[in-house]
Amino acid sequence: MTAPAVDNKVIDGTALAARMQGEVARRVAVLGAKGVTPGLTVVLVGEDPASAVYVGAKERTCIELGMHGETIRLPATTSQAELVAIVDRLNADPAVHGILVQMPLPKGIDPDAIVRRIRPDKDVDGFHPVNVGKLWIGERDGFAPCTPSGVLYMLQTYGVTTAGADCVIIGRSNIVGKPMAALMVQPGVDSTVTMCHSKSRDLAEHTRRADILIVAAGRAEMVTGEMVKPGAVVIDVGMNRIPDATKKSGTRLVGDVAFESAREVASLITPVPGGVGKMTIAMLMANTVKAAEQLGAAG
Ligand code: NAP
Repeated sequence: MTAPAVDNKVIDGTALAARMQGEVARRVAVLGAKGVTPGLTVVLVGEDPASAVYVGAKERTCIELGMHGETIRLPATTSQAELVAIVDRLNADPAVHGILVQMPLPKGIDPDAIVRRIRPDKDVDGFHPVNVGKLWIGERDGFAPCTPSGVLYMLQTYGVTTAGADCVIIGRSNIVGKPMAALMVQPGVDSTVTMCHSKSRDLAEHTRRADILIVAAGRAEMVTGEMVKPGAVVIDVGMNRIPDATKKSGTRLVGDVAFESAREVASLITPVPGGVGKMTIAMLMANTVKAAEQLGAAG
């Protein structure tokens, strides 16, 4: 695939997200001709301000792409039984192809129980154990989590050679690090994967070997230029707010990579903001369309 026009070595997440959304819109039109409108329902419990922003963006993007986007907003006092009843209703609704329960949930609701309640074929977040298993065994009808899927799309669209590459991932969470490793090691992607975490000895020794370095630790600017192999591709998943007196808000968003020093040595690098974060919602839309294609009108 030809790489999109880029400003030197900085990956343009905004352009890539627009490109993915264009692909989704074309698939939505094909489904529309068959009488199917892909539908995503997001359930938001409580008042977490960051969650409210994400949820609003998801609904807006659905509508922009010709999909049905609905948000169910519930008070923080919602019980687990009430939330389960809503998930069951959405599971049974043929107009709903994708269900996403926004995390974190208020105390008193077990997130694992809720994730397991969502029908795996509507679990567009890809967190249900059935989808985790399908990802690892390479079954293509499951859903991979959106953030790591977005990273792989970036690498592939920019023509990065993944086969045989040493890929080092910092972070082993279920939403980023582990599914990222599963995607990179699959036949067809074919990287040699090392996963690092807080107990890893001599992190820099691992990172300096990486042809592809993916950082998802949630530690502001922890990876510096001297930890990066010359010519490496550096993907920064981190999103951290740090104090900045020059900003009106008093804070600014930075990644897990010290961007300027890493940019000196890397061959390609993602910025924060404007990098991986932009891809996540686009991949959620792609997963919802995939669910609608697989479920069809029988949803
Ligand atoms: P998480 O659940 O807190 O996991 C962080 C991982 O990093 C853990 O596995 C932890 O190791 C590891 N880690 C932490 N400090 C480390 C260190 N000093 N050295 C080596 N490993 C270290 O976080 P997450 O949910 O995966 O998210 C990671 C970052 O990505 C956050 O900044 C988050 O905001 C961001 N994020 C961005 C998007 C997006 O759309 N761009 C989406 C999701 C997350 P242990 O397991 O040993 O504790």
